[in-house]
Amino acid sequence: MIIEIEKEFQKTVDEIKALIISKHCRPDILFGDLYTVIAVEGDASQLNTEFFEAFPGVVRAWRISSPYKTIARKVIGKEHQKIERERLKVSVPGGPDGHVRIFSDARYTFIAGPCTVESYDQAAKIGDGLAKLADKYAIRDRFLMRAGLFKPRTRPSDFRGLGFEGLDIMDKVRANTGLPYVSEVMAVDQISEMAKRVDMLQIGTRNFQNFNLLEELGKTGKPILYKRGIAAPLEEWLSACEYIALQGNKNIVLCERGVKSTTHGDYNRSHLDFDVIRAVKERTILPIAIDPSHSSGVADLVPYQFSAASAYGANATIVEVIADDTDRRTILCDGKQGVRLKVFEKMIQYQLAFEKIAPDFRE
Ligand code: PEP
Ligand code: MN
Repeated sequence: MIIEIEKEFQKTVDEIKALIISKHCRPDILFGDLYTVIAVEGDASQLNTEFFEAFPGVVRAWRISSPYKTIARKVIGKEHQKIERERLKVSVPGGPDGHVRIFSDARYTFIAGPCTVESYDQAAKIGDGLAKLADKYAIRDRFLMRAGLFKPRTRPSDFRGLGFEGLDIMDKVRANTGLPYVSEVMAVDQISEMAKRVDMLQIGTRNFQNFNLLEELGKTGKPILYKRGIAAPLEEWLSACEYIALQGNKNIVLCERGVKSTTHGDYNRSHLDFDVIRAVKERTILPIAIDPSHSSGVADLVPYQFSAASAYGANATIVEVIADDTDRRTILCDGKQGVRLKVFEKMIQYQLAFEKIAPDFRE
């Protein structure tokens, strides 16, 4: 941590110096012509930048080390040596050998299914179609379903999902298809039941900074799909992720789903931030998935965002899929953006072909 103080405030310098020592850190002080700068050495995690900024004469205080140490890729260890941590692979129960894995470096994982479970017939039809594709392309070890039960809706009058009732439907669909699934948890009082019966728990965009929910979900130890806030800077997203990881649960996949921009809504629902894929990989040990359905908002755009994100190095995708013969107008949530199973099959083919030729552009 660095603290910058106006030169004439020597009393502040002395007080801050004493405080730093009392917290078992070492103050390193530089006297400039206009400012005095205190560099804090040691474990500054107990020190708060805002606390120091409240002292008279303090211009600003900022941290140098990562505010998300638990998930950071590069950390400073004891004796000041730089450590580059191994990237993680996230494991969800299911799949041929007991696990569906989402890697942060190697293979790509597919997550697909209805936006929202509406009925057994609807979820079973999509599930059966997906299971056939998983078998046809031998990708069961990297294939999960998505199935929304609790739905965050902009208007309370819209269909808000089947909630716990949908769990019975998904029990049957999972038994028939053999595919594990991910579903969103919106509130703390949903956690215990959902954690018992769902394979991977999703934290949606609207809850990205619901810190209480993040901590409670972290405590379950379940794999988590954690979406970025609709206008969240990367640092805020990763810092919030630390709330989950600090509970001892690093089984987390980050998911970019588009952010608001000056033009969002003109020709898409939000803008998929492709560059964040590399930034996440550079800064964290976690895999990054992309959700081209909620970013684009229209089915036609989904395969293009999906394929571009693969080129950027995304580790997984979560795609909303509908049956080939469904009338979009009858869908209760996000009817415009679901890709049909036959289109999703082409997306799988694209990905598998891309994996064979993907160049490594690193120096
Ligand atoms: C969803 O995936 O069902 C969803 C509501 O997405 P988001 O939180 O990204 O809007
Ligand atoms: Mn949706």
